[in-house]
Amino acid sequence: MNTRRHFLQQLAATAVTIPFIPLSTLGCAPGKPGGDVMLRVALMGLGSYATRVAEAMKDCTRAKLVGAVSGTPSKLKDWQSKYGIPEKNCYNYDTYDQIKNNPDIDVVYITTPNALHHDGVLRVAAAGKHVICEKPMALNAKQGQEMVDACKKAGVKLLVGYRMHFEPKTLEVIQMRKDGEFGKILFFQGQCGFSIGDPTQWRLNKELAGGGSLMDIGIYAINGARYMTGEDPVWVTAQETKTNPEKFKEGVDETIQFQLGFPSGAVASCLSTYNMNNLDRFYLDGEKGFAEMQPSTGYGPIKGRTHKGALTQPHKTHQTIQMDAMAGIILANEKPPVPVDGEEAVKDLKIIDAIYKAVKEPHKIDLQL
Ligand code: NDP
Repeated sequence: MNTRRHFLQQLAATAVTIPFIPLSTLGCAPGKPGGDVMLRVALMGLGSYATRVAEAMKDCTRAKLVGAVSGTPSKLKDWQSKYGIPEKNCYNYDTYDQIKNNPDIDVVYITTPNALHHDGVLRVAAAGKHVICEKPMALNAKQGQEMVDACKKAGVKLLVGYRMHFEPKTLEVIQMRKDGEFGKILFFQGQCGFSIGDPTQWRLNKELAGGGSLMDIGIYAINGARYMTGEDPVWVTAQETKTNPEKFKEGVDETIQFQLGFPSGAVASCLSTYNMNNLDRFYLDGEKGFAEMQPSTGYGPIKGRTHKGALTQPHKTHQTIQMDAMAGIILANEKPPVPVDGEEAVKDLKIIDAIYKAVKEPHKIDLQL
């Protein structure tokens, strides 16, 4: 193994938090093609999101698609020719533990249905490889904590596909909030939803999805409420509406409205749905100003304005900047602007657990994140 890469992997694997280390001090060339920081990624579960990530990674300068895990042999063949993946870096769900013997893969990015994330992360960690896992990281906070613990024990990093944490206009608003431009934050509104089609898809199967719209799309409002206000909620209330119990079976939520309360006294009012279109909107209100984003979490371009005018940061393909940034986090211990680690995901899962509880109990559920 290349000595510098070995050093970087050791560095990344250490449990001690090391302050920001610019790649330049490690003799690397961040962002430059040919620089020797290159995260070598295998994607697991070659569905629609994996394809989007693979396409976006063509423009990455610090991350490269080198491997694939799939239950569909024909996809592995296609991906080998389409993305130049060598046969020796292809696995199926029975064989991927063998990645531990493959020195050419640094990280496995899990893009399977939600219920398969827990097992996938545990096995990849046991194989000694870093893991990136899609959202929701798990079906509940207990599973999520087990994943965090397993990765810690194995000395590997666990990151979650929170692509908005790198999105330029989102970061522009976060920076304005940190600079006090909105004054004291009072209110956040997050509306996230779409009208879901095919009733036979895994997203409407409780066993594979772990729930309904909240797990899939409502999580953007949960996570957004935290990064937009800059606080973690201390209580939650929630109400569920189901207009089509045939399509949205027991345990698969169609529409949930929820409210969050923050330590500062700020409140959030959010909507998660699988039964309405045109809902992709964030609104942040403070004593001195506001920010409005619509679309706020789609693939973009994100659009928005504040009391000072339009947001100005340029659009960049979310998955390209995410994967380049994650290369720095994994290989050089760089700090992301908003956390994307397993602990961050466990906080969202605790909120999801509490929202599902609050739907059944008509009172405030206390949260301790
Ligand atoms: P898809 O159904 O398009 O793809 C999932 C893939 O997982 C399948 O193609 C299949 O790949 C594999 N798989 C393994 N077991 C099963 C199973 N029992 N049923 C179905 N598929 C299986 O889903 P998406 O790509 O849309 O979503 C995957 C994950 O990514 C989800 O957790 C989702 O929440 C997340 N996601 C995140 C987004 C984001 O913006 N961050 C956006 C969209 C999704 P194979 O045949 O290769 O085994």
